[in-house]
Amino acid sequence: MKSHAKVVVIGGGVVGCSVLFHLARHGWTDIVLLERDELTSGSTWHAAGGMHTINGDPNVAKLQKYTISLYKEIEELSGQATGVHLTGGVLLAATEARLDWLRGVVAKGRYLGIDLEEISPDEAAELMPLLDPKQFVGAVRNKEDGHLDPSGVTHAYAKAARKLGAEVERFTKVEDIVRRPDGLWRVLTNKGEVVAEHVVNAGGLWAREVGRMVGLELPVLAMEHMYLITEDMPEVAAWNQKTGTEIIHAVDFDGELYLRQERGGMLMGTYEKANKPWSEFQTPWNFGHELLEPDIDRIAPSLEVGFRHFPAFQNTGIKQIINGPFTFAPDGNPLVGPVRGLPGFWVACGVMAGFSQGGGVGLALSNWMIEGDPGADIWAMDVSRYGDWATMAYTNAKVRENYSRRFSIRFPNEELPAGRPLKTTPVYDLLSAKGAQWGVAYGLEVPLWYAPEGVKDEFSWRRSSDFEHVASEVKTVRGGVGLAEISSFAKYRVTGEGAAAWLDRLLACKLPKPGRMTLAPMLKEDGKLIGDFTLANLGSPDSNGEGWFLAGSGIAEQYHMRWFEAHLPKDGSVTIEALGAKLTGLSIAGPNARDVLARVTRADMSNAAFSFMAVRKMDIDMAPCLVGRVSYTGDLGYEIWVAPEYQRAAYQTLMAAGEEFGIGLFGSRALNALRLEKNYGSWAREYRPIYGPLEAGLDRFVAYGKDADFIGKQAALAERQQGGKLRLRAFVVDAADADVIGDEPIWFDGAVRGWVTSGGYAHHSKTSIAMGYVPKEIADEADGFEIELLGKRYPAHVQPSPLFDANLERMRG
Ligand SMILES: Cc1cc2nc3c(=O)[nH]c(=O)nc-3n(C[C@H](O)[C@H](O)[C@H](O)COP(=O)(O)OP(=O)(O)OC[C@H]3O[C@@H](n4cnc5c(N)ncnc54)[C@H](O)[C@@H]3O)c2cc1C
Repeated sequence: MKSHAKVVVIGGGVVGCSVLFHLARHGWTDIVLLERDELTSGSTWHAAGGMHTINGDPNVAKLQKYTISLYKEIEELSGQATGVHLTGGVLLAATEARLDWLRGVVAKGRYLGIDLEEISPDEAAELMPLLDPKQFVGAVRNKEDGHLDPSGVTHAYAKAARKLGAEVERFTKVEDIVRRPDGLWRVLTNKGEVVAEHVVNAGGLWAREVGRMVGLELPVLAMEHMYLITEDMPEVAAWNQKTGTEIIHAVDFDGELYLRQERGGMLMGTYEKANKPWSEFQTPWNFGHELLEPDIDRIAPSLEVGFRHFPAFQNTGIKQIINGPFTFAPDGNPLVGPVRGLPGFWVACGVMAGFSQGGGVGLALSNWMIEGDPGADIWAMDVSRYGDWATMAYTNAKVRENYSRRFSIRFPNEELPAGRPLKTTPVYDLLSAKGAQWGVAYGLEVPLWYAPEGVKDEFSWRRSSDFEHVASEVKTVRGGVGLAEISSFAKYRVTGEGAAAWLDRLLACKLPKPGRMTLAPMLKEDGKLIGDFTLANLGSPDSNGEGWFLAGSGIAEQYHMRWFEAHLPKDGSVTIEALGAKLTGLSIAGPNARDVLARVTRADMSNAAFSFMAVRKMDIDMAPCLVGRVSYTGDLGYEIWVAPEYQRAAYQTLMAAGEEFGIGLFGSRALNALRLEKNYGSWAREYRPIYGPLEAGLDRFVAYGKDADFIGKQAALAERQQGGKLRLRAFVVDAADADVIGDEPIWFDGAVRGWVTSGGYAHHSKTSIAMGYVPKEIADEADGFEIELLGKRYPAHVQPSPLFDANLERMRG
């Protein structure tokens, strides 16, 4: 075994081997994979080997498509058969709601290049002869479904990597990992030590244990999973003989089942409700080649449905039931990327569908390690989407919920209850008493809307029970004044003598003067967005010279801190702190917002003294606050930042003072309705790391000419000169009873040309709005667009200027 390597990959399952292959293919060959046993000795060897392109997140779906397309290449490179059978498959709907969901999947497939087609139950039965068409209301055909040989694929990755110069050391168990003062990693094994620049944790079933070696508690948990294999079935033999083809795959969502042919019989797997975690606290090191005891009672309810939906199963015997463990993150997507605070330590774990996702994970991680960027939008699997709130108990609750809902529909207005409430702010009970319906962002409870007694969300793809109540919240804001809890923003304080120079290099905007704020896009080297913030200069005498304050997307706090810390100067001249729950927020907005504030502070609230984008410390009655004149509602409004111990007092003061102005509460759904009619985008929806500032319409906040050589400047200048490829646009949609959610295709002239990033109903303007990206060549066409919604195309019109307050009189007045 070599004593030094650029990269040590820990784990020889399908994921570790894919990472090794991709690093080698990308040109890093001083790399070694360490496997404690034979390759495949975790979850990989007993997998059912199914693969598919469908995923709830379109970016993950793209990586799944890539994974499937890769098998031919690694087979050729390695000379090792992968056993790929691209049979195709059917996705089955037994309810209308499921069919609506499937139509959304088909629609997404149009811009992802995934060939999906809605078919009738009878057509599905012609393709998959074991199903009873009377049990279903519709189906979708997917040509890119199939299965493979899990061991063959893993060995093909490893052999191909070896051919390219990588090394694989089997029976080499990593026992500890120690960071040296020079930043290199000592990887200590039962066979000696390897010193490495980078370490990749692809430990699969033991990813938690490998994480603990560096003080990391990763949010992963293994679940038991069962599939059965039947005796040979005459129906299968007859079909094979008649058509010369295998029986195709089927996913029966309502039965929580997946099926495929296995030799002369069938394989049926379940995601049962009565699920069971495995090794909740510690994975035994001596586990590897054994299976778990099958428990047919647990899967009996799913099998009952399966036998009804696929009657031929009633006449066959079960040859074997496989029960094996594999790991999940709380949301079921992988955990990939560099770990904040541990330079050179990377994870590629929590991969629950290794044969659909392993290739994409390897590609993204190797790009990231070598180029400094994953090369794709992988937010949905970025390890930084979790913070310290994703504890072991939280993970346990969430993974169990996710497993039991693997094939369940999640409606756009449906909030999942497990592991909640966890993080709450001091006004939580006060808002609950007012009817707050809670959602969650980055572990924190956030008010979505306020329901009258006895009303709650009715889950639906269409406008639902909240519609009229959100409309009334919007009316309160636009017609008078509303108050929202906004603690879910991420807040950062930047201090130190080097702070201004550092921010000038990090952010693409011009730095604001003391007492002022600005919108601040943050770019990567390739000129694409990696953040958008409000930056406040607290250096005025009023604010006691407290440095700089940034507010940004709450869900990206860890993501952004990883970026900030990686770019901090080494001389200690800058300190950045994520304030998290140490600072809570309230916002008031609407034409009467100034009058309310003026009642409760001695500070001069006049427009002359406190103009749009001003910021200063002031007391709200007795509560010390930081107040900025800015509002995501696009109205006259203020964001008020307050230490949690004062939040209740500030809230009660504002509500009492607002009474004479008819103040009311509004939640994030109303905020969405308000920002849409201002054409405002937001991080993780309109602003993502695949768009340039010009494409995203944030170029007006980029100080292309400033002296500082900000990160991404050259690429941003090139984008401005060449014009980029896409444009973000707001569309008014002639929708009927449903609004876009996000990820719907945008049609132009009869072809799919773009995709929706978000949208909804703008109650004040009484319009259905979608925001999304289209090629710049067609972006200024007023007509000709259509947006596909629940299987139908609706005319859509570009809305170039905001529907509300286009001349900014309300906001700046
Ligand atoms: C019953 C069942 C059916 C499944 N069906 C499918 C399916 O149809 N399709 C699909 O895509 N997925 C399926 N899966 C899931 C699939 O098996 C996993 O997604 C995949 O195997 C994960 O691979 P991995 O490399 O991340 O982890 P693992 O396979 O667990 O590999 C981790 C490896 O790391 C090694 N290791 C750990 N710690 C150390 C250490 N300290 N030192 C050295 N080596 C170490 C282990 O020995 C192991 O070989 C199924 C799983 C089960 C259990």
